[in-house]
Amino acid sequence: MTEVPIAERIKQITTQLNQYAYEYYVKDQPTVEDHVYDRLYQELVELETAHPELALEDSPTKRVGGIILEGFEKAVHEIPLYSLNDVFSKEELISFDQRVQKTVGHPVSYTCELKIDGLSVSLRYENGKFVRGATRGDGSIGENITENLKTVKSIPLQLREPVSLEVRGECYMPKMSFLKLNQEREEAGLDVFTNPRNAAAGSLRQLDTRIAAKRNLSTYLYAVADVAPLEAETQFEMLQELDSYGLRTNPESRLCHTIEEVWAFIEEFHERRSELSYEIDGVVVKVNDFHLQEELAYTVKAPRWAAAYKFPPEEAQTVVEDIEWTIGRTGVITPTAVMTPVRVAGTTVSRASLHNSDYIEMKDIRINDTVIIYKAGDIIPEVAQVILEKRPTDSQSYEMPTHCPICDSELVHLDEEVALRCINPKCPAQMKEGLSHFVSRNAMNIDGLGPRVLEQMYDKGLVQDVADLYFLKEEELLTLDKIKEKSANNILTAIAASKGNSAERLIFGLGIRHVGAKAAKILMEHFENVRAMSQATEEEILSLHTIGGAIANSLATYFENEEVHELLDELEKAGVNFNYLGVTTRQLESVESPFKDQTIVLTGKLTTYSRQEAKEKIESLGGKVTGSVSKKTDIVVAGEDAGSKLTKAESLGITVWDEQQMVDALEQSKN
Ligand code: NAD
Repeated sequence: MTEVPIAERIKQITTQLNQYAYEYYVKDQPTVEDHVYDRLYQELVELETAHPELALEDSPTKRVGGIILEGFEKAVHEIPLYSLNDVFSKEELISFDQRVQKTVGHPVSYTCELKIDGLSVSLRYENGKFVRGATRGDGSIGENITENLKTVKSIPLQLREPVSLEVRGECYMPKMSFLKLNQEREEAGLDVFTNPRNAAAGSLRQLDTRIAAKRNLSTYLYAVADVAPLEAETQFEMLQELDSYGLRTNPESRLCHTIEEVWAFIEEFHERRSELSYEIDGVVVKVNDFHLQEELAYTVKAPRWAAAYKFPPEEAQTVVEDIEWTIGRTGVITPTAVMTPVRVAGTTVSRASLHNSDYIEMKDIRINDTVIIYKAGDIIPEVAQVILEKRPTDSQSYEMPTHCPICDSELVHLDEEVALRCINPKCPAQMKEGLSHFVSRNAMNIDGLGPRVLEQMYDKGLVQDVADLYFLKEEELLTLDKIKEKSANNILTAIAASKGNSAERLIFGLGIRHVGAKAAKILMEHFENVRAMSQATEEEILSLHTIGGAIANSLATYFENEEVHELLDELEKAGVNFNYLGVTTRQLESVESPFKDQTIVLTGKLTTYSRQEAKEKIESLGGKVTGSVSKKTDIVVAGEDAGSKLTKAESLGITVWDEQQMVDALEQSKN
């Protein structure tokens, strides 16, 4: 090869890698898998090593990958955060050990840590208090995400010792939370996250802290910016010291005295990887002794005293035999690839969600295509890519359905959604899902009506919509499979009991798009009655400060529908309660009570009321009861034997009441 093509190849790879990095770090939506990126990166390293003069200024080998997002304050890292040099085989690991030994002149011990696939964060503590949290960004400047990190429960706001240090580690999303989040997003017609790392990054880089708070993130810490304030002299001791301060460290870390022991650790966790509740993509091997770390120092991008062993990708090839579409309660229709069964990472896989039509189009997946599949977050089978060389010559682009596979009405894309939807409110698939939702625990809570029973009822024409449930007769129920007199009676009793539910359950149960249980309660506290709400304008609904545009718009559209009012008439005729039975906003406004708008913590043993009773009473008077004492607490009610919460309240100068003061105040309050 001549110089020119090499220079061109370097340019080509650099541009491509920078584009991938942008998608990965900025968009949190990578378009290729990590090992595709890694392979290309290795090629670049090799070319640049052979021809250093051809390396470009913006080469990814010269800088730490991240780029900072607009909207966040910048956080300068006085001591930079580095990346790691990767190794992909036992031979490369041994060469790493040999380089280390050559520099320090003798064999060394290593701390092996799992390489958690999350997002690196830097947490600053001053005198034991958490004061700043930031992303790695480009290593020197990250994003200040303190408020979002405060919502991560495993990050202590106060350490057990009043030390000042900057700790670093990984913020990640456990596999199960990732699975649940993607399911919810799919049902809501939103784009799914590619892997837990991107889900964690996307959650932490939200300007709205409430979103991060809901995402169930966790952390493992494994480094400090500066080791000076520590007692520890080695990496392994440091992990123990961090742990003693109340910082969460990974329990699997191990001190290894030879590179063979390191390799055994790697092999062990390669095997055990799928058992872990979080995703790992390798093992980080770190020279244990801090003095030797100092001697080995850093390259521009990474420490010379550490190496990241990356696990090989677990993939398999199979053939897409069919694409099936299923329809959910809200009408979103989701494609699933049905594939020839194949083993991947310990299980047999024959189906993989294809998420939405854009996804199929982007990857150009066709029936009879041979595809590479892998497991995202180690659990969910995903189609990585089509092997074009194996595509049959007569192959044709997959044609997206235009009509609902169940009711045949036309499918649409609503707003900016990637999902295709069936918007026929009478679509049988949606009706059945809708019935299941209506009877579910957080909605009308009707026991005994599992999906099989509801399906039969629907198919036999006993129930067309949710109101029909209230007109069911015993003899009709007895026509269903496996339903005898006793269960028929239980079902009828449960249905009758649900008529008395407070109306927010009904509103949630109707399955109006975007209206969850919480929004239903807020709406009912304000409007008090279902009819009143059904007549409200979009502006009126929007004036409730906790209700956003999507909900207001969806409610307005829902109640514009004539059939919805007919349904409400039927429900009312059946005797279903339309009123909110809790404390309404209006009642709260007229409350006169020292608890109103106050944040209260109950501690110690209470004798007049149980904790729960006291909490309910205070909340009905407009107070908020929380579990822990902070500067935001207004009153701490200390019962008998109150302990650390009382001490903390006193140290913060918060008003403390005894139980009798609380009882008197409850009795004197008016609502
Ligand atoms: P890296 O992921 O190879 O390694 C460094 C990171 O490892 C640290 O920043 C830290 O976050 C993490 N880590 C986890 N456990 C650790 C531990 N115990 N000790 C120290 N660090 C630990 O490097 P990187 O710079 O974050 O990213 C490069 C990698 O990102 C690439 O190798 C590639 O796999 C991936 N990437 C993928 C794409 C894509 O398009 N798919 C694009 C860019 C980067």
